[in-house]
Amino acid sequence: MRDFYKYQNIAFENKEAIEQVQTQLLQDHLKYCLSQSPFYRKSLGSLIKDAEKVNLMNLKDIPLTEKLSIEQNNDGFCAVKLEQIADIVLSSGTTGQPIKIMYTGHDLKRLAYNEEKSFAGCGLTKKDIVLLTCTMDRCFIAGLAYFLGITSLGAAAIRNGHGSLDSHKEVIGKMKPTAIVGVPSFVRKLGLYIKEEGGDPSLSSVKRIICIGEPLRNEKAELLDVGLELEEIWGAKVYSTYASSETVTTFCECEAQRGGHLHPDLAVVEIVDEQGNVLEDGMAGEVVVTPLGAEGMPLIRYKTGDVSFLMSEPCKCGRNSKRLGPILGRKKQMMKIKGTTLYPQAVYAALDSIKAVQEYYIEVTREGALSDSLIIHVAANNSDFDLELLQERMQASLRVKPIIIPEKEDVVRKIVYTQESRKPTRFFDRRK
Ligand SMILES: [Zn+2]
Repeated sequence: MRDFYKYQNIAFENKEAIEQVQTQLLQDHLKYCLSQSPFYRKSLGSLIKDAEKVNLMNLKDIPLTEKLSIEQNNDGFCAVKLEQIADIVLSSGTTGQPIKIMYTGHDLKRLAYNEEKSFAGCGLTKKDIVLLTCTMDRCFIAGLAYFLGITSLGAAAIRNGHGSLDSHKEVIGKMKPTAIVGVPSFVRKLGLYIKEEGGDPSLSSVKRIICIGEPLRNEKAELLDVGLELEEIWGAKVYSTYASSETVTTFCECEAQRGGHLHPDLAVVEIVDEQGNVLEDGMAGEVVVTPLGAEGMPLIRYKTGDVSFLMSEPCKCGRNSKRLGPILGRKKQMMKIKGTTLYPQAVYAALDSIKAVQEYYIEVTREGALSDSLIIHVAANNSDFDLELLQERMQASLRVKPIIIPEKEDVVRKIVYTQESRKPTRFFDRRK
């Protein structure tokens, strides 16, 4: 079993030292996949004759792994015997069928180490008390991963999960957490609720908010309105984190708050274009992850479906590891409007920054072979609403001209908030 802590300070070493360690761990990972994973033995066995000849430069010659392959061959991806599996996680598949991800005890230790590094990176220590506002059950890995990381760091966790606003308010008053892990829009709602009830979140014990599941920054890595509001309401610093269940790997921002540091000893991250070509740092494309040392369901060059870019300029914190930028959107939600690439997140951010906008949803339709149309249904506060001005502001921030349809608030709410989905649905893809 690998001693994860052996390379715990590798991010502070120079580029050459980082590459040397990564190459070694990558080769070990490939050897493991080729000998233990039925899927990779079959698909790559004849292609990779000698894993020791693979390095960070020629890794691009190995085929990418699609989520669909896992859906079609789920058991073929399992590299261990049944008795070694410790936890089975479900992740939504592309065809509606969930996929199983098998974690061994070793994978859970790896995850604990990964999250410990991530939390320590944004300044948490064993003196911290961390309120978790995400679920620990329902076959999700995220809540468990945060819990393992917090306890591995020596800090204390408060597992209040999907508690009500009032129960979180009580917990904050009684247990004095120094940090919260949660979805930005929810933590914002919680702060506003505490204010309504006569409290002041900025005077509470909470000093850091680790944001999950929703974007916090734009493509320039600047805070979106929700992030600015969170910092103001709570008088706390906000940090963004990124993870995916399949890759058993997470990244979190450091105290410089400029992108999530990659952990060189835990994953090789690449960014690829539509054709699968590896892109230079700074260019946006699909995030591809090779999780080093994952045991239960090891993956090679896994396409996450998320779009972002890598940042390689030096970071103020002293780490020399590259950073992953904000997630700009899901690849399948990408819109192409008269040559401009756009993701729903950018439209939401633009609408959220306009005070008069109350509720909205967006539709995308196919206009021609190469172009889509963006339609924004918006309910706004009547007294401040000016359709022309809204059109101008949207065009200025998005660089495309959307069609804007004014709607009544209750009509929009009925479409956005449905019984079937816990989260609001604001994106409707009519291109199929
Ligand atoms: Zn940093």
